[in-house]
Amino acid sequence: MSGCIFCRIVAGDAPATKIHEDDTLLAFLDIRPITRGHTLIIPKGHATDLDELSPALGARLFGFGHRLSKAMRRSDLGIHGANLLINDGKAAFQTVHHVHLHVVPRTNGDMFTLAKGFLLRRPHDQEATAAALRSGLDRLAAEEKETNA
Ligand code: AMP
Ligand code: ZN
Repeated sequence: MSGCIFCRIVAGDAPATKIHEDDTLLAFLDIRPITRGHTLIIPKGHATDLDELSPALGARLFGFGHRLSKAMRRSDLGIHGANLLINDGKAAFQTVHHVHLHVVPRTNGDMFTLAKGFLLRRPHDQEATAAALRSGLDRLAAEEKETNA
């Protein structure tokens, strides 16, 4: 959809630090992260909110959120958990009107860092962060391959 920043990212017309891309989904770092590794997962096709998203795509969106959350724990970023969140609609403080699932990494006892992150929303070393998350995904895939061998 023209004018939608996330559609522009999908089209390659706006920059993003990508974590993962497949036929239906794109995952990239939030430009104003709450914690290091804060990632957004979006359907590639424009859907304004959950009302416009098919249940099948919703399941894929959460499916990759689940996968990324596991991958984060396997990355070298010292992540112990994550908050997965969708702000669905203006009433829920959705500010970018293309559905996105936030995956916000958490570490044990990070309340102070989290509070600071909420206030500052400053990017970290985005390239190194993305590389660490991608290697977490690779480690997860290798682990699964070993389990299924
Ligand atoms: P929400 O309140 O759920 O709509 O949050 C929108 C999120 O998108 C915020 O966390 C923004 O920091 C993030 N955001 C906005 N523009 C971009 C962009 N160009 N690239 C990456 N993240 C973005
Ligand atoms: Zn869009």
